[in-house]
Amino acid sequence: MGGSAVKLIDNYGRLIKDLRISVTPRCNLHCLYCHPLGWEQSEPPGTLSVEDVRRFMQAMQMLGLESVRFTGGEPLVRKELPEMIAAAKELGIPDIAITTNGLLFKRKAKALVDAGLRRINLSMDAVTPEVFRAMTRGGEVKKVWEAIETAWELGLHPVKINAVMIRGMNDGEVIPLAALSLDKPLEVRFLEYMHLDNSNPELYQQRFIPGAETKARIEAHFGPLEQIAHDPTAPARVYRIPGAVGRIGFINPVAEPFCSKCSRLRLTADKKIRPCLLTELEMDIAWAFAAPNPVEALVDAILLATQRKPAFGNTLPTLRQRVMVGIGG
Ligand code: SAM
Repeated sequence: MGGSAVKLIDNYGRLIKDLRISVTPRCNLHCLYCHPLGWEQSEPPGTLSVEDVRRFMQAMQMLGLESVRFTGGEPLVRKELPEMIAAAKELGIPDIAITTNGLLFKRKAKALVDAGLRRINLSMDAVTPEVFRAMTRGGEVKKVWEAIETAWELGLHPVKINAVMIRGMNDGEVIPLAALSLDKPLEVRFLEYMHLDNSNPELYQQRFIPGAETKARIEAHFGPLEQIAHDPTAPARVYRIPGAVGRIGFINPVAEPFCSKCSRLRLTADKKIRPCLLTELEMDIAWAFAAPNPVEALVDAILLATQRKPAFGNTLPTLRQRVMVGIGG
């Protein structure tokens, strides 16, 4: 927060200033790299309430919070999301964003923007309807387009698109996705597939596409990309096709990990702090929310969790207790 004198610095000297809150483990899509079939989750009693979210953000703000991103599961299935965003705005958090599949965005966008939403990342792994449907196990890409247009109409900026690249599934979409940036004010980001779905390790290795390969394919088609200066703690490396309106980003956590620059803590919907996306370690902090002075207790919990943030995440295929849809990306 602007004005906070205290900074949250972990044991490896990293400044922790960005918070991701998973507001629900529920999702209305079953993307094949994120939400394994059979992994249906509900919101059990004890799921983060609006007041819990407010208190956690307040505690983080006392420690220098600069940005909050609401995610899930699918954050828009949580009806209290506008109230959570309003709480972030009331606290004066400068950067308030969501990551969403966009299916419900058109319907809910005005309430979210009125509450204080400023930025949106939309997941769109393909422009071809059949490929999108296969990646999301039934989703309709036209809904994402509606969400993009709604975001533009409401003045959200920048609008970023996330595409997880999977060999044999959407590798044929690289050029059409990159081409969206030519005449549209979009940042199209290509994400390396992380093994956070408990898929078969050999199948995962076959499906994994290094970001450098995706970039090489784009450059073979459009010519050399121009690099754009970016926040060094942000995960994406950002480029532009010469003359394009929009941008292209690469997020390469597996082939080119950026752990040394990581500035994030995660709060899960079941009240656990997860200091690292790619490490199983989680700290149950339900006790802090229930303490007589919860904000003070949460500050203590956040300080402890930050000390335990590992130097590196584990990108190797391994059986995880929680898959991506339950963690919050
Ligand atoms: N439901 C929302 C959505 O679709 O954007 C938010 C949650 S989703 C977990 C957040 C982001 O994580 C999405 O952009 C998704 O593509 C990305 N993601 C999910 N599983 C992933 C994986 N195994 N590897 C890389 N990115 C993944």
